[in-house]
Amino acid sequence: MKSVDPSSSPATASRREFIRTAALGLGATLVGSSVLGAPFSWLEEMPYGPASLEALRQGRKLGVALVGLGKYSSGQLAPALQQTRLCRLAGIVTGTPGKAQQWQQQYGIAAKSTYDYKTFDRIADNPDIDIVYVVLPNALHAEYTVRALQAGKHVICEKPMATTVADAQRMIAASQKAGKKLGIGYRLHSEPHHREMMRLGQQQVLGPVKRILADNGFRFNNDTPWRVDRELSGGGPLMDMGIYCLQGALYTKGQVPVSVTAKFTPKPGGDLFKEVEAGVDWQLQFADGSVADCRTSYAENMQSRLRAEASKGWFELQSAFGYGGIEGRTSQGGMNIRNVNQQAAQMDDFADCVLNNKLTRVPGEMGLRDVQLLLAIYRAAETGQKVSTKDVKDVLDRVGKG
Ligand code: NAD
Repeated sequence: MKSVDPSSSPATASRREFIRTAALGLGATLVGSSVLGAPFSWLEEMPYGPASLEALRQGRKLGVALVGLGKYSSGQLAPALQQTRLCRLAGIVTGTPGKAQQWQQQYGIAAKSTYDYKTFDRIADNPDIDIVYVVLPNALHAEYTVRALQAGKHVICEKPMATTVADAQRMIAASQKAGKKLGIGYRLHSEPHHREMMRLGQQQVLGPVKRILADNGFRFNNDTPWRVDRELSGGGPLMDMGIYCLQGALYTKGQVPVSVTAKFTPKPGGDLFKEVEAGVDWQLQFADGSVADCRTSYAENMQSRLRAEASKGWFELQSAFGYGGIEGRTSQGGMNIRNVNQQAAQMDDFADCVLNNKLTRVPGEMGLRDVQLLLAIYRAAETGQKVSTKDVKDVLDRVGKG
């Protein structure tokens, strides 16, 4: 009998074509493979759906409107939207007329797609806007997310999703009522080094993970005063930077913890931290006895590290939570994975979900889970007691779920 090369079967050939097209869609970012032999590449794990491939062929892109033109919108999101394949910068919402004019000129945004916070709801009548991206101080996320959903738009909301559980819940309810997607701006779920951490940890490639170490912090210079204003931020570095350690621990372990202990770090002199913590160290405890030791601060420049120690070896990322320059290593050697434009990959992932009506890896429910955990960490630090997190929403990004 004639033997058949499985790599030349029509099904495999069309899958190869499919992935190749997706790779072109991402600017040919084939990102390399791990020394630990990934069973599938990043693009095979995260292929675009058929409607996205059709949109790519037609050069059709979803319109994104940025709400709040501060540092993250101007420094990262707007430039990334010049590199996205499935979506484009089509609208802006700002309270500053000077900024509106400057952005219109710089990015060719139409006056009819420019709003302020009062006229924002008229976005409902704008067919050029498909996705509203909320990039405001944390406590304002809920109001603008709900208004955008009520206007019939899909929403990406920046992290942390909200400052209270009640706000997060009403954002999810609004998304369900509107029948529109709600995703959180968790860029690292679309980043190949972090997906490799998920694979190595969740699939126990080096045995079960016993301990995770994560830190993320910097010396805050008060360039964005709302970050230390409790009403607007909901808290200090834990809400802003520590959330990455929390996220990293959960997706590397592939579990939601059962309890948490925490301790605030001493506040430096001066009154910068009169309303929020200067730093916090915390430990997540998982059901199998493994732990994650995490640290964050606004008073100390930290390594930005995510490390997992498993029964048969270790794996880690340095500059783990930055916008680029991530380096991955394992006890068996380097990860050999390229960096990508994280925000472009993240927004294209979300656009792919919208176009193909797929579930996002970073849904509102995951944002709610994290708000519940962040508040549990604060409770543990305030009381000095171990706080149970058994009732926290059990939502996880599982590797291999394309
Ligand atoms: P920023 O202060 O630079 O920008 C905030 C914007 O909101 C400004 O344009 C400001 O004018 C506007 N704004 C509207 N109402 C306001 C009010 N009442 N008070 C203060 N500002 C008001 O902040 P940023 O660094 O761009 O952060 C915005 C959001 O993006 C935050 O939720 C933050 O956590 C998130 N963020 C996420 C990432 C990431 O990597 N995913 C990175 C940075 C920031």
